[in-house]
Amino acid sequence: VPELPEVETTARGLRASIIGRRIEGAGAMDWPAMLPNAVPEEIDGVASGRTIESVERRGKYLLLGLSDDQWLAIHRKMSGNLVLHDQDVSPERHTHFSLTLDEGTRLDLVDPRKFGRVYLFRSSTELASFLESRLGPEPLEGLTTARFGQLLARRGGRLKSLLLDQRFLAGLGNLYADEILWVARLHPLRQGSTLTARERNRLFQAIREVLVDAIERRGTSFSSYVDADGEPGTNQLFLRVYGRAGEPCFRCGGVIERMVLGQRGTWFCRRCQVDRQAPMRRAKRSGDL
Ligand SMILES: [Zn+2]
Repeated sequence: VPELPEVETTARGLRASIIGRRIEGAGAMDWPAMLPNAVPEEIDGVASGRTIESVERRGKYLLLGLSDDQWLAIHRKMSGNLVLHDQDVSPERHTHFSLTLDEGTRLDLVDPRKFGRVYLFRSSTELASFLESRLGPEPLEGLTTARFGQLLARRGGRLKSLLLDQRFLAGLGNLYADEILWVARLHPLRQGSTLTARERNRLFQAIREVLVDAIERRGTSFSSYVDADGEPGTNQLFLRVYGRAGEPCFRCGGVIERMVLGQRGTWFCRRCQVDRQAPMRRAKRSGDL
């Protein structure tokens, strides 16, 4: 599942190869649900003849800035990969969106599960209001420890759910949230508003460290993710808790456990991510409080 580091890696790869390319046409749009705010003819009409001027990322959205302030925002959701091909290579199975570019290349969205989405925006203002209504701040851009602390104090909720909430912080998903909480030595069920200043600081540092390392390793290829050149990342070799149930914790030697939280698997070490609120919750349940 592509999260911030995977989308960032894709954006970096594409930037080098598609900026300045002229789009000859948009096609392969055979799944209407992937186009929430436009029809294929409109996307093709807007894209054809325009030049790709920028490749950016906001949260898990990859943004293609076209000439005349026209924008495509691509969200890969569960399994989508954006891959650059030569035009003489026929599209892979499950290609549901593609941009034919000049100089003989083609950008394909390959998405077996069809959860990916392609949005069209007719101005940067339109794009900005769409993104602002869905996304909180970028964890690696301009966010300070102080601001992060304010955001945490203002919001209720368990740390794991908070980290997954795109309106709280943009770009994190299940895998990096678990890795971050392990690095920060914080229990996934802990209420965000109860963190001490030291814990808040530790969490903030962990978010940055985990994301920066993962981007350096070109993302995590746990199941199907590949970058724009079709290459897997290497961060899966460095995972500390995600998918490691029953294996020893690298920090304390305890056993990594898995629990289900909001219908998602959550991996953590009970020994070094101590649940400081567990006695309180138990007491509440038994009616002592
Ligand atoms: Zn441990």
